Amino acid sequence: MENQACIFCRIAKGELPSNNVYEDKDLLAFMDIHPINRGHVLIIPKKHAELVSAVDEATLGKMMVLGVKIDSAIRKSKIKCEGISFLLADGEAAGQEIQHVHLHIIPRFKGDGSGLRFRGVDARQPGKTEFAETAKEIKALM
Ligand SMILES: [Zn+2]
Repeated sequence: MENQACIFCRIAKGELPSNNVYEDKDLLAFMDIHPINRGHVLIIPKKHAELVSAVDEATLGKMMVLGVKIDSAIRKSKIKCEGISFLLADGEAAGQEIQHVHLHIIPRFKGDGSGLRFRGVDARQPGKTEFAETAKEIKALM
């Protein structure tokens, strides 16, 4: 259900202004007010969900399809980007700042200085056993 304190729920209900690029009964896509680059769009499910696992599969599928449509539109626009990043931060430790699921569609340019930064490869050099055990555990929990 909606969360009164949630800024994205308020945007979804039209209580706060947004520059929308798409809307239907399940989804809203609007311009990010703190864009990484011009044309940075956010796609949200209208129904409040903090983590992606709380969003129903049909809505998740629609979010990705809409993301591809917006990607194509941005590429045709005068933004003339060289690439587009799809980013979904699932949880605070992953960089999620608003606790309502949102998919970023971010126009990118070579050398724009943005992007997901990894600290480097795992210095532990995990062996074959760890890869196999990890895969087995994840597989079993799906
Ligand atoms: Zn919300």
